Parts: sequence; structure tokens; C-alpha cells
Amino acid sequence: MNFERNLNEYAKLAVEVGVNIQPGQTLLVRSPIECANFVRKVVTQAYKLGAKNVHIEWSDEECTLIKYLNAPEETFNEFPRWVSDQYVDIAKDGGAFLTIYAQNPDLLKNVDPQRVANFQKASAKALKEWRSYTLSDKCKWSIVSIPTEAWATKVFADVSKEEAIDKLWEAIFKCTRIDTENPVEAWKKHNADLKVRTEFLNKNNFKTLRFKSSKTDLSMDLTEGHIWLSGASHDPNGISFNANMPTEEIFTMPHKFKVNGVVYSTKPLVYGGNIIDNFSLTFKDGKIVDYSAEKGYETLGKLIDTDEGSHYLGEVALVPFKSPISDTNIVFFNTLFDENASCHFALGSAYKTCIKDGDKIQDDEMDKYGVNDSLTHVDFMIGSNDMDIMGVTYDDTEVQIFKNGNWAF
Ligand code: ZN
Ligand code: ZN
Repeated sequence: MNFERNLNEYAKLAVEVGVNIQPGQTLLVRSPIECANFVRKVVTQAYKLGAKNVHIEWSDEECTLIKYLNAPEETFNEFPRWVSDQYVDIAKDGGAFLTIYAQNPDLLKNVDPQRVANFQKASAKALKEWRSYTLSDKCKWSIVSIPTEAWATKVFADVSKEEAIDKLWEAIFKCTRIDTENPVEAWKKHNADLKVRTEFLNKNNFKTLRFKSSKTDLSMDLTEGHIWLSGASHDPNGISFNANMPTEEIFTMPHKFKVNGVVYSTKPLVYGGNIIDNFSLTFKDGKIVDYSAEKGYETLGKLIDTDEGSHYLGEVALVPFKSPISDTNIVFFNTLFDENASCHFALGSAYKTCIKDGDKIQDDEMDKYGVNDSLTHVDFMIGSNDMDIMGVTYDDTEVQIFKNGNWAF
């Protein structure tokens, strides 16, 4: 199939199924300047569907790096209010957000990790109000990825940069079902397929999940009234959208204080322009009490120390080892893709949509219900082909959920 057709279909999918733009709606697109060609197609599609106004926020990694290497120290302790205010304004007005995520995984490897950590914290604080909209589906949002030279050559290190970009496009088109005859229809079917297993998990209402592989050995209680979610979400008007494209995960909320044992990462985690790899986390009563990492130990430590809530989990997600993204056998160094090829947990805040009447839970009641709150939410991959997961119900019945990395039912 020709590239131009695929590119147009991808832009259409992002606008129609991703943020699902409605007539009269405003869209903010956040994108690296390298992806301008794709963004122009997105803008065209958005107006075709009746968007009122499409705003673009461009970024440039070269400039980001120059800033990290040259700006004064205090720069990284603040985040411009005019940026966070505009996000909140757009969300309040019912606008939608499309993020083109295409990071160079090694961008900040030679930057003082303290600068990176300071800015992560300052931006998370400033964007907390806006994130309260996205975390509870009060506005439509979506994330897609486009190859950039730095990212593609990291994923495919042994070939020329042109070939690397081609290969990454090919993988993206496959994982997002663009290579099917009618991608929009393929996504409708995919969303429906995910719902079947989601319903099984919800019907069983598991009290506890036990994760066991050759390395990982961890017990996790789910919150009472937890809800497994997958695929499409719905905004307050009942309009569907897909927050992540691709998505293969079915996810819910662990109990903040009821996680015990040790979990090992199975894919590298890119965080703040640095790679953390081959790491482990040990939990006692939900809190991380020990950690190790072969690579990126300092960055991992700074992530865990973001705030109190970043010492606890906010998400558990199930993805079979045998699934479209995992089958590509590619390590993407991009969480959007890697998390959808593997079971994963998230450090930090929970999605209130993952618990019954979550929107009614007040900030000071969150601990009581075991709902974690944090400035951050970072997914990390833990699935492997030797992972077994047992579910235990409230009447102590054990149900095998995963056997050797795949669904057991
Ligand atoms: Zn997830
Ligand atoms: Zn997550």
C-alpha cells in the first residue's frame, strides 16, 4: 500500500477515532516540528469534520537540549503559567487535545539529572489542574506517535537513517491497523473485542491478583469497586475517543496500600529523556521500600522521589505476550508502544474512572478508598512469556488469568 494513502488514513484515524472531533469543537495539537507534514494532514481532517479552530503548539528537541545545557538553574524550577492556563481554558471550553509523541529516548542523557527532575516536578505541578480533566475523561484527548530521525535510529540502530524511518513507519502502520482496508472500522471491531475480556474481569470482581514469573513475585489487591477499562473512553457527553493509539491494554486500579513483593521490568523505560533498564521495585504495604536498576538508577530514584504518591502504584494493566505489537519483536523505546506490548504497572496517580463513583471521591478521602494521588503517572513494563497471573475472588476462589504470558481463559 502506498505511503501517502497510509499517512492520510493515519491522520484521519487520529482525528476521527482518537480525539473524535465534533462540529464546532476546538483542537489543540502538540507536536515536534519534525512532524509538521503529518500535522498539516491532521489539521485538514479536523476542519473537514467541522472543527471550529485548530491550534498548534510546536516543540523542538534541539532547542530543548540547548535550554537544558545553557539556561540558568532557576529556569527548571518553574513552568510558564500562560501555557498551563491555555490548556485549562481549552479543556473548560470543551476542546480536545492531540499529542504527537516522538521523543528522542537519549535526548537528555548528558544533562544534569537534577535539572530534569526539577522541571518534571515543576511542569507536573503546573499541569495538575489540566491533568484532572484528562485523568477523569472530562475532555477528549489522544496520543499518537510519528517517526523522527532520532527515535527511529534508536529503534533500528543497524540500518541507515532513511531505512530506520521507513521501518518505524511500517511498524506504526501495522500496530495502529492502518495496514487494513478500513482502519476506522478495524478500530471499532478492536474496541469491541477488548470489551469481551474486560467484561470477564469485571464480572469476577477479583480481590487480589498474584503475579509470578522467574523473577517477579508480587501480590496486589484491587480497590473495592474497581472497574476494568479498555479501548475507547467516553467524555461527559458520551462521545467516544481513544486516548492511546495503539492500545491493547485492559487496566484498573490497584489498592494503594495493598501491594507486596517484588516486580522486575521487562522492557527499557524512557523517562525524561533518559533510559532506565533492567530494574526492580520492592513493595511493602503498597510503598516502594527498595529498588535496583542496571541502567538509569539515579533517574529511577528521582522518579520515585517526585512526591509521596510516586512511591505507590496507580494502575495495573494486562496485555498478552502474544499481541500485535509484541509480535513485531521491536523494543520501541516509546512507552505508548512498549506498554501496549506488555503487562504494565504505573507509578503515581490512579485514574478515578477505574473505581465506582470515582468522581465523587474527595481529595481527603482518597487514602481511605486506596486511590493513589501523585503529580506523576508513569507506566513501566513487567510482562514476560513466563508470567502467570492468578486472580483470587472475595470467596477465595482462584482463577487463572494469565498462563505463560497469555490469557488463560
Ligand atoms: Zn496503561
Ligand atoms: Zn498508564
